[in-house]
Amino acid sequence: MIKVLIVEDEKAISNLIRLSLSKEGYVCTCAFDGLTAVDLLESNIYDLILLDVMLPHVDGFELIEYIRPLEIPVIFITAKDSVLDRVKGLRLGAEDYIVKPFEIIELLARIDVVMRRYQKCDMVLQIDGLKIDTRSMQVWRDGREINLTKTEYEMLLLFARNPRRAMYRETIYERVWGGEYPFGSKVVDLHVQRMRKKVGWEQILKAVNKVGYRLEVPE
Ligand code: CA
Repeated sequence: MIKVLIVEDEKAISNLIRLSLSKEGYVCTCAFDGLTAVDLLESNIYDLILLDVMLPHVDGFELIEYIRPLEIPVIFITAKDSVLDRVKGLRLGAEDYIVKPFEIIELLARIDVVMRRYQKCDMVLQIDGLKIDTRSMQVWRDGREINLTKTEYEMLLLFARNPRRAMYRETIYERVWGGEYPFGSKVVDLHVQRMRKKVGWEQILKAVNKVGYRLEVPE
C-alpha cells in the first residue's frame, strides 16, 4: 500500500489525480492548502507527496523545506512552465516535477520512476548495528540473523524508515495491520515490546507519552 499526499488547491485537478491514482491502487489523501498539509504530515506517514507550487497560506517552495527532514519523495506540480521554477523545485530537493496541464499517464510514469528509485536506495538499511534487507525481508545484528514475524518486521521497517519521529499508535496500527485502530487496544504496545527486545532496541525505541513510540538514533 503506497500512501500519497496530494497538495493541490485546484479541486478539479486534485480530484482527477486522486481518482486516477486510486484506480492504480494508491491510497490518497488530499490537502487543499499548505497548512492542512503540515497538519496531515504531523500525524500521518506518507510514501510520496505531490506538491503544487502555488498554494494558499504556505506555498510549495516553503512546504518542501518542512518536508525535507521527513525524507519523503516529492514531485512538484507546477502551472508555470518556467525553467526557473523547475530548477528551484529540484534544487530544493524535489525528486521530479510535472507541468500543468499534464496527462495522467505521464504523472503515473513519473511516480513509478520515483518510487522505484526510492525502493532501490532502500534495499539494505543499516541502523544502530542492524542490517535490514528489504528484498529478502531478513534482519541481522552483528552478522546473526534475527527471526521476526511479518508483523514485527513491518513494524521494524516503519521505525527504521522514520527515525527520530514520534509515531502515533494509530499510525503504527494503520500501517502494519491496516484499518482503524481499535480504541483502547494494547496490540501495538505488545508487538513493539516483543519486537524491540528481539532486535535489541530496548534502549532506543522509546515510549512517547500519550502518543506512541519514537526511535532515538543519532542523525
Ligand atoms: Ca495552485
